[in-house]
Amino acid sequence: MITDATVSLVSFYIDGAWERPARRKGGTVTNPATGAVLAEVPYAEAGDIDRAVRAAHEAFLKWRDVPVVDRVQVLYRYKALLEKHAGDLAAILTSENGKTADDARAEVRRAIQMVEMACGMPSLMMGDSLNDVAAGIDCKTIRQPIGVCAGITPFNFPAMVPMWMHPFAIACGNTFVLKPSEKAPLTPTYAIQLLHEAGLPAGVINLVHGAKPAVDALLHHPLVKAVSFVGSTPVAKYIYATAAAQGKRVQALGGAKNHLVVMPDADMPKTVEAIIGSAFGAAGERCLAGSVLVPVGDAAGPLLDLLVARTQAMTVGDGSKTGVEMGPLVTSDHCKRVTGYVEKGVAEGAVPLVDGRQHKPAGNGYFLGPTIFDRVTPEMTIAREEIFGPVLSVMRVKTLDEAIELVNHSPYGNATAIFTASGKSAREYSRRCEVGMVGVNVGVAAPMAFFPFAGWKHSFFGDLHAHGKDAVAFYTEQKVIMSRWF
Ligand code: NAD
Repeated sequence: MITDATVSLVSFYIDGAWERPARRKGGTVTNPATGAVLAEVPYAEAGDIDRAVRAAHEAFLKWRDVPVVDRVQVLYRYKALLEKHAGDLAAILTSENGKTADDARAEVRRAIQMVEMACGMPSLMMGDSLNDVAAGIDCKTIRQPIGVCAGITPFNFPAMVPMWMHPFAIACGNTFVLKPSEKAPLTPTYAIQLLHEAGLPAGVINLVHGAKPAVDALLHHPLVKAVSFVGSTPVAKYIYATAAAQGKRVQALGGAKNHLVVMPDADMPKTVEAIIGSAFGAAGERCLAGSVLVPVGDAAGPLLDLLVARTQAMTVGDGSKTGVEMGPLVTSDHCKRVTGYVEKGVAEGAVPLVDGRQHKPAGNGYFLGPTIFDRVTPEMTIAREEIFGPVLSVMRVKTLDEAIELVNHSPYGNATAIFTASGKSAREYSRRCEVGMVGVNVGVAAPMAFFPFAGWKHSFFGDLHAHGKDAVAFYTEQKVIMSRWF
C-alpha cells in the first residue's frame, strides 16, 4: 500500500536528514501490474554524492570508535522494526517490483536474516592470536573498518540486496552510501527510514537515488574506500574496472544464465514443481532463475509432458492478489525487451512449447506469460544471453558429461541445479560444474545469510563474495600486531 507519506520518502537521506531536492532530473516508478505512476524519483548529481560521501566520512571518524557491542544494538532495533513493518515492506515491494505477495514476504524474511547475521559481529569480527611465535613475542590479528563504503543495487531484490551490504558494513564500523535501483527505490527507502528510527547516528547511513551519473560520482570519489555492486554483467564489469583502477576494494556481482540439469532417474513431479519455481518465480527476474533446462537422455519425454501442462495452468496476474503464481515484469521497457527475445527465439528456429505472448492478462500491466522453447541450440540468442524474464530454453543432451560440457561452456557461472535420485550423479555434477551456487534437487540454490553468495566467471568480479563470513572480510582491513614487552 503506497501512501502519500511513502511517496514523499523517495528522497535523499544525507547526514541524518531527509531531502527532497528541487530541480533534479529524475524518473518515475510505476506499478508493473497496472502501469500507474507510484512516485517521482530525483536523481542525485555529483554535488549530492559529494555531500553524502563527506557526511559518511565525518560520521566514520566517530562511528569506528563506537564499541561493536553498541553498534549492533542499533541493528537489533532495526531488526525489530523490520519485523514489525514486514507486511508494509512486502506490500510496497510488490507494488513497485511486481513479484507476488508470497515472493515479497519471503524476500523480506531473507532481508531480515541478513540483519540477524550482522548482529553477530562481536564474534564474527574476532581475530586470531598466538603467543610465543618467537621468544617472548606474541602475535594477533585484528579487523578494523575501512571507511566509507558504497552500495549500488538492482531492481529485482530491493529489500534483500541492500541488506547484503549496509548491515554488515556498519556493524563492522564503516559508514555507508546506498544507491538503490531507480526502478524500485521505494522499498529500500522505507527500510532506511526504519534504520533512521532505530537510532543510527547521522551520517552512518546515507541514501541517494539516481542512475549512471550518481554511480560514477561514487566510483570516482576519493573518500569512498569500497564498492559493493549487484546488477547486470556489463555494468558489473565496468564497476569492477573503474573502482579497482581508483584503488578501491570492490565486489561486483553480475548476471546469469543458469542451467537446470534433469537426469532420467529424477522424481519428475517434484522436479517439475522446482523448475516452475526456478524459471517462472518472480517472473524469471532472479539471478538464480533457471533459464536453460537440460534434460539428459530419456528424461526429456516425461519431463516436458508434465512441465508443459503445469506451465499452461499457471496463474499470471497482479502479484498483490491471492492465488497469483506469477506477476508482471518490472517496467514496460523490460517487458518489451523480454518479448523481443521470445520473437527472436521463434525467428531463430526454436520450437515454442508454451508461448507466453498468448498467456497473459489484459490491461496496462507489463505482463508476459511463462514461455518454454524446445530444440534450442547453443548458437541461438536465447541460449547465449541473459533474458531475465519467464523464458525457459530446453537444450537436450545425451549424457551427464555432455550436460557438464554445455554448462561449463557458458560464459556465466552463477547458479545451477541437478535433479536426480543418484548420489553419484549429483556428486559428479556438483564437483565438475564451473558454477558458484549449486542445487541438488533444489531449483533456486540461494545461500542463507551465513553462507557466501556469488557466482563464478562473468557472474562475479572480485574476490570476496556477498554476506556470510566474506562480508566481514570485505568490510574490514586485517592488521597483524606482534608484541614484545621488555
Ligand atoms: P543493472 O545493471 O541495470 O542496474 C544495477 C544498478 O546499476 C542500478 O542501481 C543502476 O542504477 C546502476 N546502473 C545501471 N547502468 C549503469 C551504468 N551504465 N553505469 C553505472 N551504473 C549503472 O541491473 P538491473 O536491471 O537493476 O538488475 C538485473 C540484473 O542484476 C540482472 O542481470 C541480474 O542477473 C543481476 N543480479 C545479479 C545478482 C547476483 O547475485 N549476481 C543478484 C540480483 C540481480
